[in-house]
Amino acid sequence: MSHVKMQGSIVVVGVGPAGIAAAWAAAEAGGDVLMVDNGAAAGGQIWRGGKALDRLSTKWLRRLERAKGIRRVGALVVSAEADRKLLLAETAEGGSVGVRYEKLILATGARERFLPFAGWTLPGVVGAGGLQALVKSGLDVRGKRVVLAGSGPLLLAVADLLREREATVVLIAEQARMAAIMRFGMKLASAPAKLIQAVVLKARLATVPYLTGCWVERAEGAERLKSVMLNQGGRRWRVECDYLGTGFGLIPNMELAGLLGCETGPGGVVVDARQRTSVEGVYCAGEAAGIGGVDKSLAEGEIAGWAAAGQEDTARALEGVRAKQLGFAAALGEAFGLREELKGLVTAETVVCRCEDVRMGALEGMEDWREAKLQTRCGMGRCQGRVCGGALEFLKGWTPAVVKPPVFPARVATMVAEDEV
Ligand SMILES: Cc1cc2nc3c(=O)[nH]c(=O)nc-3n(C[C@H](O)[C@H](O)[C@H](O)COP(=O)(O)OP(=O)(O)OC[C@H]3O[C@@H](n4cnc5c(N)ncnc54)[C@H](O)[C@@H]3O)c2cc1C
Repeated sequence: MSHVKMQGSIVVVGVGPAGIAAAWAAAEAGGDVLMVDNGAAAGGQIWRGGKALDRLSTKWLRRLERAKGIRRVGALVVSAEADRKLLLAETAEGGSVGVRYEKLILATGARERFLPFAGWTLPGVVGAGGLQALVKSGLDVRGKRVVLAGSGPLLLAVADLLREREATVVLIAEQARMAAIMRFGMKLASAPAKLIQAVVLKARLATVPYLTGCWVERAEGAERLKSVMLNQGGRRWRVECDYLGTGFGLIPNMELAGLLGCETGPGGVVVDARQRTSVEGVYCAGEAAGIGGVDKSLAEGEIAGWAAAGQEDTARALEGVRAKQLGFAAALGEAFGLREELKGLVTAETVVCRCEDVRMGALEGMEDWREAKLQTRCGMGRCQGRVCGGALEFLKGWTPAVVKPPVFPARVATMVAEDEV
C-alpha cells in the first residue's frame, strides 16, 4: 500500500467545531492549512456527517467549504513525533500518510465515559452518544423502547433525536442530584442563548420522565438486553427496554498531546490564553482542552487558529468569549460530577476491561495502570484503554499510563513507512 507525504504550515487534527474554527481563522490569516480527520465528512461529534443542522453549524460548515487555503485528508493519526514535527496517519483504504507541520493544532475532541455495572457488556447496551451516532447513520429505532442513563446534557440531546426518529424514550436516569441541576439551571440565566436552548429541549421532551439521583444498577437479559434494574434513593424497580444508552459525561482525547509531550491534567490538555500547550508550536482547542460544549470549542478553535497564524491581536480580542465559555464549562462540571455511590455498582465479578475480559476482582491489590497492564492485560486490547481507562480513573483514581505509539492499533507498515521512504 502507498505511503503519501504531505505538509502544511499549520496542520489541524480534527474536523469538529474546534478544528473547523481553527482552520478557518488560520486560513483567513493567510496560512496554508492542512486538516486531518478519520471521519468521512466534516463536523465532529455534534455535526457528524457534515449535515447542516442549525444556524451555527450551517455558518461554520459553509465557512469551511468556502475558505481558501484549506486542504483536507481523511486519515487517523496514530503516531506523532514532536522533534521531527511529524504525524503518521492511516487511511481507511490501507494507505499511510506522513504529515509534516510547522504549527500543529490538536482539536481531537472527547469520548464518552463508561462506568461498569452488572450486564453492561450485553448486546443492546451502548454508549448514549454511540446510539446517537448509530441512529444518525441509519439505525432504525422506530417503536423501540430506549432507556437513557448516566449523566450530563448529552442524554437530553440523544433523547431528542430518538424521539424525532419515533423511538419510545422510556425514561432518562440522571445520576446528579436535582439541587445541583437546579443550581446549574440558574447559572444559565447569564447565558440566555443556552437557557433558551435548554428550555426548548426540555419542552420537546416534556413527556419523557427525567429522574434525578437515579441510575441503572443492572442490565438484564440472556442473549441481549431485555430490561434494566433502576435505583433511585434505594427504591428499585425493573423496566423493559430494547436499548440502554449509557454515558457518564465526557473524557478529553489527550493521547496525541501526551505523545508529543504536552502537559495534561485530569480536565484536559493544559493550555494558556492563546491555546498554546507546553510544547512549542503545538496548540490545543475544544473538548480535548477541557469539556465545555460546542461554543467553547468554537471560541478556542478560533483563538488557536489566529494565534498559530501569528495574529495575536485578533486572538486576544476573543478572550472575553473564551472566559465566558470556561465559566459555563466549570458550572457544567460541578453540576454533573459523579457520585461516590456509583463505585458500589462494581463487584469483583464485574467486567471492567471488555476487550481483554478482565474483571474487577483481578485488579485487587494493584497499585496503578502499569501493574494492571503487566499482570492482567487490562487496557491492552483493541480500544487501548479508552473505555476502561475512564472507568478506572473514577473507580480507583488511576491516572492514565504513559502514552506510547501507536495510539490506535496500526499496521507495522505505517509505523516504519516514514523511515523507509
Ligand atoms: C459521542 C458524542 C456525542 C456528542 N453529541 C453531542 C450533541 O448531540 N450535542 C452537543 O451539544 N454536544 C455533543 N457532544 C459534545 C461534543 O463533543 C462537543 O460539543 C463538540 O462536538 C466538540 O467539538 P470538538 O471540535 O472539540 O470535538 P469533536 O466534535 O469531537 O471533533 C474531534 C474530531 O477529531 C477527530 N479525531 C480525534 N482523534 C483523531 C486522530 N487521532 N486522528 C484523526 N482524527 C481524529 C474525530 O474524528 C473528530 O471528528 C458529543 C460528544 C460525544 C463524545
